[in-house]
Amino acid sequence: MPFADAARVALDRLQRYYEECQSGEGPVVGFDSPERLAERLRLADLVRDGGLEERVAPFLETYLPATTRLHHPGYMAHQVSVPAPVSALGEFVHGITNNPMAIYEMGPGAAAIEIFMIDWMLKHAGWRQGGGGVLTHGGSLANLLALLAARAAIAPDAWEEGAPDDLVVLAPATSHYSIARAVSIVGLGRRRLRPVPVDQSDRQIPGALISTLEQVRAEGLRVMAVVANACVTSTGAFDPLAEIGAICRDRRIWLHVDGAHGASALLSDTHRHRLRGLEHAQSLTWDAHKMLRVPTLCTALLLRDGTAFDRTFSEEASYLFYGPDGGGPDLIHRTIECTKSGLGLKLLFAVAAEGEKGLAAYWDGRSEAARRFTAIARRTPGFDAPLDPESNIACFRWSAGDDDDQIRIRQALLREGKFHISSTEVNGRRYLRLSIMNPATSDETFHGLLEAIARIATIDEPSA
Ligand SMILES: *Cc1c(COP(=O)(O)O)cnc(C)c1O
Repeated sequence: MPFADAARVALDRLQRYYEECQSGEGPVVGFDSPERLAERLRLADLVRDGGLEERVAPFLETYLPATTRLHHPGYMAHQVSVPAPVSALGEFVHGITNNPMAIYEMGPGAAAIEIFMIDWMLKHAGWRQGGGGVLTHGGSLANLLALLAARAAIAPDAWEEGAPDDLVVLAPATSHYSIARAVSIVGLGRRRLRPVPVDQSDRQIPGALISTLEQVRAEGLRVMAVVANACVTSTGAFDPLAEIGAICRDRRIWLHVDGAHGASALLSDTHRHRLRGLEHAQSLTWDAHKMLRVPTLCTALLLRDGTAFDRTFSEEASYLFYGPDGGGPDLIHRTIECTKSGLGLKLLFAVAAEGEKGLAAYWDGRSEAARRFTAIARRTPGFDAPLDPESNIACFRWSAGDDDDQIRIRQALLREGKFHISSTEVNGRRYLRLSIMNPATSDETFHGLLEAIARIATIDEPSA
């Protein structure tokens, strides 16, 4: 079939792409306008004429150079996984079989894999006894689902009546923006999100959580949930979960742990302790498309009490929801999505390729790389790296520059295209930021990056 020939062409070209990226030759990132790219990709011709199968090779010849190369060692910008290539095979198999499996009869194999992989994640969270979970399309959706479950727990009538007007959510000021959105979407209103102060590493301060709790109680408000970061997006530091967990346990408050990035540390004997206290949480968001090497998107939302899912959504769709006669459980009752991808397949493929020990070693190795980078930056003249990394995220500054200079440096780096890094604000100061996702990123990459920054910063410096 022409498709199989096209697939072979694509695979061959992708293999070369992968090897080129890993070798570090060529740019990691580049810029072109959407109009010019649409023209070079001949999108209008393709849409008009069809027949892509015959034109896969020339298409990829233009498309692949227009990608941001996550497999390039200079890719250190965002928390998006550098996928284990075999995990992409899971996407491919799903793309042909297309078993959406939200109802069991639409994909028994895919559903069985999801149920198995959720159980595997629950085991690592320590929630296998009584816990439940579901795979969903991304951490933002999982955070929304967690807050819906928390709302159903404190206000069971909210589904019919709307959210009561005395509920608040407490979350560190540095939480991911999806938490603020979710608070609005579940009907509390943005002002009902109360920020908890954070320390110099952007970690939630337990004492400040207690005083914020006392303050909202004095206002006559009820706490729907407390959110903790594991880890925080900016610095990669973990909120002190043991203390926060005990505070929530004593007050019977729903604790949601946003472990989108850092829950993968649960696999590591060396780093698991950073999530100590998780046993007091009610819900956990865990992105597989960050540190489990799965292509976007694939996220688990885990609940310590799996029966809480049954109370989260209360509506009926009679053509779908008429009892368990499809031979197995329907996961549709647990998600915001109706149709969803067979997400378990690519998760399974990544875990089965690397092995859980391999993924633990990957977490350990990339976290160690962040510590090594920080040590190198500290002893390189011109740089300042005050924060000790707790994960694979590292923040640093060109110390002679002000906040705007950090942004200018990043922009110049991106224009050169050899290194792709990000930038963040911590405690009111602008930092350059690495999220070291790529196994191919080495000390050599770090030295090259710091040299490039020193060169850019000294050339661009206004004449003294
Ligand atoms: C990445 C991230 C999110 C968002 O997850 P998506 O999968 O991108 O929707 C939420 N919270 C934290 C802490 C994150 O690191």
